[in-house]
Amino acid sequence: MKKHNFSAGPCVLPQSVLRQASEAVLNFNELDLSLIEISHRSKEFVAVMEEARTLALQHLGLEGKGYQALYLQGGASTEFLMVAYNLMKSKAAYLNTGTWSSKAIKEAAIFGEVAEVASSKHQNFNYIPKGYDIPADADYFHCTSNNTIFGTQIKEFPKTDAPLVCDMSSDIFSRQLDFEQFDLIYAGAQKNMGPAGTTLVIVKEDILGQVDRKIPSMLDYQVHIGKDSMFNTPSVFAVYVSMLTLRWLNEQGGIAGMEKINQYKADLLYKEIDRNPLFQGFVQNKEDRSLMNATFNLAEGANKEMFDSMWQEAGINGLNGHRSVGGYRASMYNALEPASVAVLVDVMKEFERKS
Ligand SMILES: *Cc1c(COP(=O)(O)O)cnc(C)c1O
Repeated sequence: MKKHNFSAGPCVLPQSVLRQASEAVLNFNELDLSLIEISHRSKEFVAVMEEARTLALQHLGLEGKGYQALYLQGGASTEFLMVAYNLMKSKAAYLNTGTWSSKAIKEAAIFGEVAEVASSKHQNFNYIPKGYDIPADADYFHCTSNNTIFGTQIKEFPKTDAPLVCDMSSDIFSRQLDFEQFDLIYAGAQKNMGPAGTTLVIVKEDILGQVDRKIPSMLDYQVHIGKDSMFNTPSVFAVYVSMLTLRWLNEQGGIAGMEKINQYKADLLYKEIDRNPLFQGFVQNKEDRSLMNATFNLAEGANKEMFDSMWQEAGINGLNGHRSVGGYRASMYNALEPASVAVLVDVMKEFERKS
């Protein structure tokens, strides 16, 4: 049965990518060897790493603009501390829009003073704060572009002289932005790019090397840059699959083409959430709604058991909301086909008819 994978992460990947990846596990590049049993220093794998790094910069429009792309390990969670380790002299500013921002703040506080410029915690993170001030003496400003758990997304980023650092784990390569406004972007691969096991870091080189503290090699961006993202054995499979997904993204018309598809999917679902009296959206302001993760609840008195069995019977997977929000979360990452969203919307309509 065809499954419709709305999982929040690890997430749906393009079928063509999964097929090529599985072939490479058995026989990579006609070498009669597996991708995962050859040296990461072989010319075949070095070419994969180079292409993965170049494609990431090309898609973001950052090639030749002083940025480096790295594929590191330890998940986005390790970047929470690496960012502070590498950039914080004494004080950094953070916007708190959810669980992941809060975790980033907790790690940064180990290295210095964290100025929390605004927080939507008092409303269970159901909106994006705006109009806050970023202290002039902050070493950098950190924000989370898309709040995977709560379903909010920053649509406009603040202007600041401080380096702008962004956790884009769950919406990288999903929409057009002026990526040059960012000085450091990081994203765990497993939300929109590949399997778990690698984290893409895009960093503007001139912001590095300004802290006095000693940085352990594995946590030093400059060490990884100096070794072309091969300081130690990289996560070869995860990097390879990410590279395949970035090639696939070219076939979708790059980020511009992808954004149109993502907007179409999100409009389709939010329209039904707003129309159907049995559902209500979780996010307070429509302008803050995420194109990637739509969070919604059943209206009071609606039959949860019936709805749950209906979407499960339709082949839908991964629709339950995160425990801190409850209700439902439909994650519509790049590789989720519009037809899958149409199936969910049909189930919601059918549920209304049967109720
Ligand atoms: C999932 C997620 C993380 C954590 O990523 P790991 O790779 O599991 O460490 C961080 N930030 C955001 C926005 C996420 O969605």
